[in-house]
Amino acid sequence: MDRVTAVDPLRTAEIIAVGSELLGATRLDTNSLFLSGRLASLGIELRAKSVVGDDRGMLAVVFSQALARADLVLLTGGLGPTDDDVTREVVAGVLGLPFTEDPAIVATIERRFARRRMRMPENNRRQAQVPRGALVLDNPNGTAPGLYIAHDAKVVVLLPGPPRELQPMMARLCESLLGARAGGERSYTTSAFVTGRSESHVEEAIQPIYSRWYDATPPIQTTILAAPGQIEIHLTLRSADPGAARARLDEARDAIAAALGDAVFSTDGRFLEEVVGDLLKARGLTMAAAESCTGGLLLSRVTDVPGSSAYVRGGVVAYSNDLKTAFVDVPADVIAQQGAVSEPVASAMASGARTRLGADIGVGITGIAGPDGGTPEKPVGTVAIAVAGPGGAEQVRTFSFPGGRAQVKYQSAQAALDMVRRGILNGDW
Ligand code: AMP
Ligand code: MG
Repeated sequence: MDRVTAVDPLRTAEIIAVGSELLGATRLDTNSLFLSGRLASLGIELRAKSVVGDDRGMLAVVFSQALARADLVLLTGGLGPTDDDVTREVVAGVLGLPFTEDPAIVATIERRFARRRMRMPENNRRQAQVPRGALVLDNPNGTAPGLYIAHDAKVVVLLPGPPRELQPMMARLCESLLGARAGGERSYTTSAFVTGRSESHVEEAIQPIYSRWYDATPPIQTTILAAPGQIEIHLTLRSADPGAARARLDEARDAIAAALGDAVFSTDGRFLEEVVGDLLKARGLTMAAAESCTGGLLLSRVTDVPGSSAYVRGGVVAYSNDLKTAFVDVPADVIAQQGAVSEPVASAMASGARTRLGADIGVGITGIAGPDGGTPEKPVGTVAIAVAGPGGAEQVRTFSFPGGRAQVKYQSAQAALDMVRRGILNGDW
């Protein structure tokens, strides 16, 4: 009588990146970033990842431990033809699987060499060694095939190191073998991006809301990520029902957005420069900027968005005082009396940019990015930002940003964009 064995879905995974170069100072393991995204979309929880050199003993230890802890172990790299490529051999050794040479793989590799009018070196036969029971994963972009090994209730996958070989192979696996073993549940995410509030303010405002979701069915996991000038709130949910998952996440995200009000600038993953661009385009408005301490960063970010020529007039980097006067008509006596970093100078830069560059909205940014140049009254991180609109509408604010030079510049551009955004939403311009 046939026995049908139900196989448990794969719930947990670990990744092992193999390669001595990845332990050095110049090469980073990026494959695991790609793989973790694919695992998340399959609803398989990544528990840990490791980086190991081309070292048989070390790899055997790390692989054995990963296999004991996780349902699925993904290994990348070390599948090449040379002696330092040890992944295939170590995995087969730990699993106790003998090798056989697969003539079809030898033929495929020979054809790849023949196309380049070359003979296949004997070394490459190593890549045709298949552990018993393993499925061979074609590699149209290189010589090293991948391997898929179902071992008891667990799965081990060996993928080539080069990202352009690994990525399509993993994508095909997710649609076939791995997708079928992942179980019915998938992971769904949504986000809300906030600016102008600190991480702890955001936490204070939304903690009473998201703490109710811990014990909900299904639970929603909330992650708050702080970056300079931006707080990201990510909500994640596991479910077997895509429609219900989306509806539940949208409702949860809307509750968070309502608690934070207009500090939320995006609930669809768009960055601030894209949100501002879309608002300008929708209202038929154009913008220009005179930048000092940001050195053009504002305009650089705004013009990273495709289609920005529809609403960006241009900008000037007016770093020195005389160029603030020459380019955007900041009166020299205002600079002399108020200092270059002051609200009157930011205002004059904004209205000068607006009129000289012929835009509806002008932005002026002047500040002290550090590490030198601070004074007791105006310490490093002091930045004055002004936005000028039609009919004399104007807003000007002074900020004190934390962090080093790059952070101060980024936060200045972010705050300027946010002033433009809020002004548009309030109908100021
Ligand atoms: P291998 O399969 O170990 O021969 O790796 C071949 C090449 O793939 C390496 O020289 C790297 O350029 C690249 N590579 C290997 N592992 C990784 C990784 N984890 N992340 C990004 N690139 C990798
Ligand atoms: Mg290698």
